[in-house]
Amino acid sequence: MTESPAAPAGPAFSTLPLAAPVLANLQQLGYERMTPIQAAALPPALAGRDLIAQAKTGSGKTAAFSLPLLAKLDAKRFATQALVLCPTRELAEQVSQEIRRLARAEDNVKVLTLCGGAAIRPQLASLEHGAHVVVGTPGRVLDHLERGSLALEALTTFVLDEADRMLDMGFAEDIAAVARHCPPTSKRQTLLFSATYPEDVAKLAARYLRDPQEVRLAETHAAGQIVERFYEVTESQRLHAVGLLLQRFRPESTLAFCNTKQQCRDLVAVLQAQGIVALELHGDLEQRDRDQVLVRFAHRSASVLVATDVAARGLDIAKLEAVINVDITPEPEVHTHRIGRTGRAGESGLVFNLASLDEMGRVGRIDEMQGRQSVWHPLAELEAELAKAGPQPPLLPPMVTLQILGGRKEKIRRGDVLGALTKDLGLDAAAVGKIDVNDFSTYVSVRRDLADQALRGLARGKVKGRTVKARRL
Ligand code: AMP
Repeated sequence: MTESPAAPAGPAFSTLPLAAPVLANLQQLGYERMTPIQAAALPPALAGRDLIAQAKTGSGKTAAFSLPLLAKLDAKRFATQALVLCPTRELAEQVSQEIRRLARAEDNVKVLTLCGGAAIRPQLASLEHGAHVVVGTPGRVLDHLERGSLALEALTTFVLDEADRMLDMGFAEDIAAVARHCPPTSKRQTLLFSATYPEDVAKLAARYLRDPQEVRLAETHAAGQIVERFYEVTESQRLHAVGLLLQRFRPESTLAFCNTKQQCRDLVAVLQAQGIVALELHGDLEQRDRDQVLVRFAHRSASVLVATDVAARGLDIAKLEAVINVDITPEPEVHTHRIGRTGRAGESGLVFNLASLDEMGRVGRIDEMQGRQSVWHPLAELEAELAKAGPQPPLLPPMVTLQILGGRKEKIRRGDVLGALTKDLGLDAAAVGKIDVNDFSTYVSVRRDLADQALRGLARGKVKGRTVKARRL
């Protein structure tokens, strides 16, 4: 059984060079946004590249190879133009079904399943009528090739689905024999999909693929879904672009990485001037100030934390909607580390990268390491989308952090603060967020619209039987 990817958050299919009826059909099927494997595989595959893609069932891989093979298909030509080899009959049936659904936009695309274990006569009869797409298991497909009931001279796409499983099941020789009946690699596109990537799959790829693009999704991100976009910017657009991204996507918590301290300072100044609550985390901060910055960010009372890689080291923040790479790092490993901060534990995450022409070499190295091609969007698109959306309320964090001067040394506990706010001041407990009690002070977050009321109440009332001083951070 396949499981549907939960509403993928990737780029829209409409960003792909697909014909209008195909896009309309996808929409009808409820496919609006691409899954990660589709977002990584479709652009190079539609451009005609060979592909080695690492993907499991349930990832949306079938559409990732079916859309490219259908895009090239000439339905008026009655010859087999695409062949998909699968390890099992069950998978072959599923793949055929999916291709039929995806082919509804075109007229009369015939898809035929040829699997072992099924009677051969009806297959022979179907083959006489011709099929544009054949999906089958290697042994039975080879059987038909040797009988002469199937010919592959007109083949334009050859797909090896679940290649690792086919090899495990001992199909290596059958695959080799089938490949000998296909046109040479220069005359066909070969797409190889595999959940794992052992040595024998690499050998298979080296034999049957031509200059393939590798599409691998980093394991660490398999749990959540990361949508990664690149924007080309000039130096003068860079900091302004961060503001546009925040206005457009309105993430509640964003970590913005800069390569230098100076860039961090400049960005915070630009964002604050736009009314965005942005805080800087840098190495020169005193411990107490650093703690306050982190508390405010963790409390959701700041929208953006701007940091260098060094300053962000060891930072543990549970839930981040977005990571913005304000500058592209020269080290691909650092990039992986940065983007791993979002999309954790099944949550979806947004990653935005701002790259100048000077940084394209770095982007190339990142692509190479991640085994995928970066997805580019023009900055003008952001501006147009914002203009279309009309005036937006300012992006404000949902909470405000209040600092109470008094902590563990005064024997203040979480319950005392919660009690003062809810029982004494009548605030709804749901309006009170995190409470952190330190040695000399206590931080509590309250809903932004209730912050002033809470502050006035704390100033008049008591915490643990005494009057306390409190201030808004
Ligand atoms: P697969 O990994 O190819 O077996 O696909 C798993 C399931 O997800 C299938 O039922 C597909 O119909 C469905 N699916 C594939 N791509 C998308 C998408 N972009 N949006 C929604 N559903 C999808």
